[in-house]
Amino acid sequence: MKIITQIHEMQALVKELKKNNSIAFVPTMGYLHEGHLQLIRTARRSNDITIVSIFVNPIQFGPNEDFDAYPRDFERDKNICLTEDVDIVFYPSVEEMYPNPLSVKVLVQARTDVLCGDSRPGHFDGVATVLTKLFHIILPDRVYLGMKDAQQVAVVEGLISDFNFPIELIPVATVREADGLAKSSRNVNLSPMERDQAPAIYQSLSEAKEIIEDGEKNIEKIVSRVRDNIETKTNGTIDYIEIYSFPELQRIDKVQGKIIIAVAVQFTKVRLIDNIVLTIES
Ligand code: AMP
Repeated sequence: MKIITQIHEMQALVKELKKNNSIAFVPTMGYLHEGHLQLIRTARRSNDITIVSIFVNPIQFGPNEDFDAYPRDFERDKNICLTEDVDIVFYPSVEEMYPNPLSVKVLVQARTDVLCGDSRPGHFDGVATVLTKLFHIILPDRVYLGMKDAQQVAVVEGLISDFNFPIELIPVATVREADGLAKSSRNVNLSPMERDQAPAIYQSLSEAKEIIEDGEKNIEKIVSRVRDNIETKTNGTIDYIEIYSFPELQRIDKVQGKIIIAVAVQFTKVRLIDNIVLTIES
């Protein structure tokens, strides 16, 4: 396994590798867990070379967000990547990625007026900008993204299609703890009590799925059921509970077709997100 920290080195290597190999790219912010591993394993199955990037991207964090507190442990991540037979880890510094203030930024125009795009202004511009840079550096054939960040999947679909990147996006299902909590690097920043409460998020989404499958179509009723559940079972503050069409992220009047139910809950030091996507035949 190669560890590369310099952009020019990565580009030179990829130029050679691309001649005879398909390249899979798994972008991450590190502190790897089973969710990331699922992306890596899925990538390895269908590609010759798997490249994992580890980069906590400052420009996708807001001024009051957890950029400094975001967990980091490169030694641990390196060993995990070794065990998983990753071919290349791209691990640039902030200075390497942003040596100067950017003169051009990617602005995401659609699918960001809702959910995390609404609560985290500029977040998806930061994601789209860093991915544009990483796509140019790594030149992947396929990029693997987790459905845990479903809005990110929707936004990156738009980025790839609008900017004509010759890259196939492969969404990968959310990996969960045994109690249903979506795996996240941020879970380590939950207090023990919050960790006990946090599975209520997925439980409430699963219950919403059940009542929808039993015929409930009224969005307000479904949202209020999820809200009651989270409010009674956690001390977290609900940031949003919303239902949209997926992947368009358009408002809908009633539950029909392919939809997403998405939730964000702020705990003391951590904001957790989760979602389920389901298809309802009318
Ligand atoms: P992050 O390191 O949090 O930026 O995540 C890197 C990639 O891993 C993103 O595509 C995430 O959607 C994905 N990911 C994070 N958590 C999970 C999970 N629990 N299951 C599946 N994919 C995940």
